[in-house]
Amino acid sequence: MISIENVSRYYGVYKALDDVSLQIGEGEFFSLLGPSGCGKTTLLRSIAGFDVPTSGEIRIDGVASTLLPANRRPTNMVFQNYAIFPHLDVGENVAYGLKRLRLDATEERRRVSDALDQVRLTGLDRRKADELSGGQRQRVALARALVMRPKVLLLDEPLSALDKKLREQMQVELRSLQQAVGITFILVTHDQYEALALSDRIAVMFGGRIAQVATPKEIYQHPRTRKVADFLGGMNFLRARLLADRKGDVSVDAAQFGTVNLAKPAGFTASDGHVTVGIRPERLRLLWDDERAPHELTGRVENRAYFGEVTHLTIGVDGLEQPLSMIETNDYGADDLPVGAEIRLAYDPDAFVLLADDEMALR
Ligand code: ATP
Repeated sequence: MISIENVSRYYGVYKALDDVSLQIGEGEFFSLLGPSGCGKTTLLRSIAGFDVPTSGEIRIDGVASTLLPANRRPTNMVFQNYAIFPHLDVGENVAYGLKRLRLDATEERRRVSDALDQVRLTGLDRRKADELSGGQRQRVALARALVMRPKVLLLDEPLSALDKKLREQMQVELRSLQQAVGITFILVTHDQYEALALSDRIAVMFGGRIAQVATPKEIYQHPRTRKVADFLGGMNFLRARLLADRKGDVSVDAAQFGTVNLAKPAGFTASDGHVTVGIRPERLRLLWDDERAPHELTGRVENRAYFGEVTHLTIGVDGLEQPLSMIETNDYGADDLPVGAEIRLAYDPDAFVLLADDEMALR
């Protein structure tokens, strides 16, 4: 549905987008994820036609669209601030973009009412926009885009103004809405949980470049670089010594964790006989009483933070440069472990991933 080939965007000498190539399929829920300033909004605006790349090509639904005006593209955008008109009622807001299509009154009413049904605002069309809650405003903004029947809906941080609880509820709704209408959604977000929960695939961006494109599970479990791993959640990083470098995998000496075998991503090279490996905090597990595990380490609690359903622990291990972070459910009393307690932890060597120190190492 969307094909982006070698797109760059300069602002003066500053490169906001640096040779970005990306394919997004029909009916996909695709997220552009990255920190502030990484270029995700610039990329979304280029797809929408609100910004023109300095070089490169954008095709939408088979049509060369790089220079096509926004209103001639089969795309519609939902903005962060909703951009709804406070003096108009909900129905008038939703009908606004339809005016230029000059539909007859019955057809216009039918399309407005269909769009309001889709976002679960049935019957609210006479309500003034400034008498709506944040969540309802968000739905009006969605209905106003959907009423145009776009092939691609572009969403620029659409949930960022909502509080946590409402945001989580709207995330679920956004995903069901996308499945119900079946069109391509492209979401810009800096919230990794939002991207993981909603997307079929995610592109992680840093400094105007795409670092990795993959499904949520793949990107969380097999991040290619240290930066991607870090942005997607907590990760314990270790400098490990390379023992054997074979075609598809490597063996490393991961300090106190012993010898670990790891799958090697395409294009990976170890520069100086050392590599970075990572293991997620929830892949380390406390061992209680006389429970044994095939792979164990001993350590002591250096820090503890209670999060209700889970406790985050920092564990000092003799011989490791950095303490380990781990996340434990509170079923067995991890929340009561005192700082200084001696503990044993279990790990699965298969939970380690091999990480490139930066994306350039993979090119
Ligand atoms: P945020 O989440 O903060 O919106 P973003 O990842 O969406 O960030 P962009 O808005 O795409 O980032 O901006 C990418 C870079 O380009 C930023 O460093 C930004 O300052 C710069 N930039 C964006 N628009 C312009 C402009 N009109 N003129 C100059 N620089 C710009």
